[in-house]
Amino acid sequence: MSQHFTLSVVAADPLVAKALASEKTRQQDQIELIASENIVSRAVLDALGHEMTNKTLEGYPGNRFHGGGRFVDVVEDAAIDRAKQLFGCDYVNVQPHSGSQANLAVFFLLLKPGDKVLSLDLAAGGHLSHGLKANLSGRWFEPHHYGVDADSEVIDYEALERQAEEIQPKLIITGGSAYPRAIDFERMGAIAKKVGAWFHVDMAHIAGLVAAGVHASPFPHADIVTCTTTKTLRGPRGGLILTNNADWFKKLQSAVFPGVQGSIHSQVLAAKAVCLGEALTDEFKEYATQVKSNAATLATTLQKRGLRIVSGGTDTHLVLVDLSPKGITGKRAETVLEQANITANKNAIPNDSPRPPEWVGLRLGAGAATTRGMKEAEFEALGEMIADLVEAEAAEDTDAAVARCKAQVAELCTAFPVYNG
Ligand SMILES: *Cc1c(COP(=O)(O)O)cnc(C)c1O
Repeated sequence: MSQHFTLSVVAADPLVAKALASEKTRQQDQIELIASENIVSRAVLDALGHEMTNKTLEGYPGNRFHGGGRFVDVVEDAAIDRAKQLFGCDYVNVQPHSGSQANLAVFFLLLKPGDKVLSLDLAAGGHLSHGLKANLSGRWFEPHHYGVDADSEVIDYEALERQAEEIQPKLIITGGSAYPRAIDFERMGAIAKKVGAWFHVDMAHIAGLVAAGVHASPFPHADIVTCTTTKTLRGPRGGLILTNNADWFKKLQSAVFPGVQGSIHSQVLAAKAVCLGEALTDEFKEYATQVKSNAATLATTLQKRGLRIVSGGTDTHLVLVDLSPKGITGKRAETVLEQANITANKNAIPNDSPRPPEWVGLRLGAGAATTRGMKEAEFEALGEMIADLVEAEAAEDTDAAVARCKAQVAELCTAFPVYNG
């Protein structure tokens, strides 16, 4: 008899099983400081690995193209209700397979090919799905970018206003993947209104902070909001679209399906419902508050050690370090940190080189390590280690620092286990 229903991945596929086991160990043994990552709950994992993955459905609850969808309807309705409650908005689409897909659906809803889009420059912390030339959004629309003030490294709202008046874009987008400061949604919404543009907030990185009320909400200033359910929201890989515009809702539904997607990922909808339910709890509010405090501690510690922090600090989970005064690239810092089992990524900083190997930024985020239970004391220790490693790399003498930090990271990882260690 076939063992299709009984054989575990360990028995069925040693190659994949070994990679899975190694990845699990890596997550236990490394401290994750990549700002776009987090560690989902056991409950989210349970939903993701569930038999619900077998169910194919197109359409929306109560109006599906296939039979047998009533239990998926339950989880999709729950995800919708919870997202509305969490973000205080009237209409939600929970089906986007990712943040980029969510953005694509918004473009499909609001734009025609060739329309002008004004978004945050990638080097100033923007996102590739907001009009990078190599992305569909940059190819099909006419992208323009605003940046940050040269001194403060905070969005230059006055320059943005002038630019918007001159360009007359159809859509203004804000949000990004490496912008560490709070965004003034009210001011941007007013600029969009003044020039007759729609205002789209992509809150992918900060959705968990917004959900917990530790970052201002894009509502009521934004016309439409997208986010991922990964990152600070601490859920499965996927996206959400939120709006208060009743006139758009039907068109938005068809912009997602059949506009840019086919069938839903049923088990991911279940996992989204679980993470949104978690985000409604007081425990999650405490978590998000701790994330912000940990990021601030990390920034201050690095500053005390003489490292330059882009924009002088953080209002979020994210800290961006400028390594140029130390004479090393982001890539070199990323590599030496990984040798000590700290994971982070090289990043562009404002006015950085267009070539990733030359970028001088290092992006750090507090979301994942805070989920492990680390607090200010541990983030101070992490800051000291990062400063030590950067200094050692700059001096091209890393062996002792790597050995010392690696041992300290191992102690922290044992003290703050992931799942059951
Ligand atoms: C991460 C991110 C996305 C893309 O999300 P994916 O799920 O990786 O497609 C979009 N916008 C912003 C601002 C992001 O940070």
